Amino acid sequence: MARRVLVTGVSGFIAKHVALELLNAGYEVRGTLRALNKAEQVRRSLSKAGADIGRLDFVAADLVKDEGWEDAAAGCAGVMHVASPFPIAQPRGRDALTPAARDGALRVLRASKNVERIVMTSSLVAVMYRPNRPKVVTVTEEDWTDISWRALSPYVISKTQAEKAAWDLATTEGFRHRLTSVNPGFVFGPALDDDIGASLDTIRLLLKGAYPAVPPASFPVVDVRDVAALHVRALETPETGGHRLLAASETKSLKEICDILREAFPAYAKKIPAKELPAWFVRLAALFDRTLAAVIPDLGCAPHADTAYVTELTGVRFRPARDAAIAAGESLIKIKAV
Ligand code: NDP
Repeated sequence: MARRVLVTGVSGFIAKHVALELLNAGYEVRGTLRALNKAEQVRRSLSKAGADIGRLDFVAADLVKDEGWEDAAAGCAGVMHVASPFPIAQPRGRDALTPAARDGALRVLRASKNVERIVMTSSLVAVMYRPNRPKVVTVTEEDWTDISWRALSPYVISKTQAEKAAWDLATTEGFRHRLTSVNPGFVFGPALDDDIGASLDTIRLLLKGAYPAVPPASFPVVDVRDVAALHVRALETPETGGHRLLAASETKSLKEICDILREAFPAYAKKIPAKELPAWFVRLAALFDRTLAAVIPDLGCAPHADTAYVTELTGVRFRPARDAAIAAGESLIKIKAV
């Protein structure tokens, strides 16, 4: 009988790819949804992508509620905790997203204490921010974001708090060796349907001409297919227990991403921003624009992620940022999102 793996927030952009990878590897997948009315779309999208959805089922569970998590994890050999709020527009209040992210992670982990392998989707945002970073910096799994930095967005605070709380719980309860975190950079790659998440929404907005210019900010980029493969390899590789697996290929500025898109999609070239805004202008405009405010910590810094140990531990190699950005654009055009 196939072994069952729980995937939290299976309606999400990354979680659907994780579920696809698991189903294609022969696992049974139980996906959690906070609203079961999304089940049909998830089923349709995974089936269209070629998965055997006969091995897929759903349960209702919300990160901000206790109900459902124990039953969801029961009988599962592995848990992929992927769900967490990731809004493109940042809410007011530094801690606005923390209850769902941190307390939700603790609910999932407490319910999974007896599960063989737990993989949690954290983020490079929990790794790479500290005040006065040098212009070019390489981060490793030892690095932690300093959440005392006032400029950080509620999303960054929530992901850092959630991952820290998860490791603390795993350490005090003695299951640290069964927990692995996956910490991706900016995730591009193909969308499986029109529920695209915040990172592909950025590509969509660039292709649609929503911005006249972009902030001078750079991010380590990764393809969602590699992120999904890494989740499954982490699940199957007990040696990854206790590790934080940074997931990224190259670091690209938003301007470089625009240049890649412009060259790949000439029909959209005129709409895609060709210029960078000056940093001083972004700081000023951020006083009135919450989306721009979220990018302030990224101004003038190009963080690189050291991932050689990840490939060594899991065999996963990260495809170039260019391929990830183009695959994202192609899929958005195909589903008529732009
Ligand atoms: P999505 O917004 O597509 O997915 C987020 C998922 O979390 C959705 O399924 C959403 O459910 C679920 N969720 C949000 N709030 C709750 C809640 N209160 N209870 C239950 N489920 C909830 O984003 P991504 O797929 O991009 O992100 C998935 C994970 O990857 C997140 O943990 C994110 O922080 C992390 N990540 C993403 C990166 C990226 O660039 N995309 C980079 C690094 C990390 P619903 O469909 O109901 O809204």
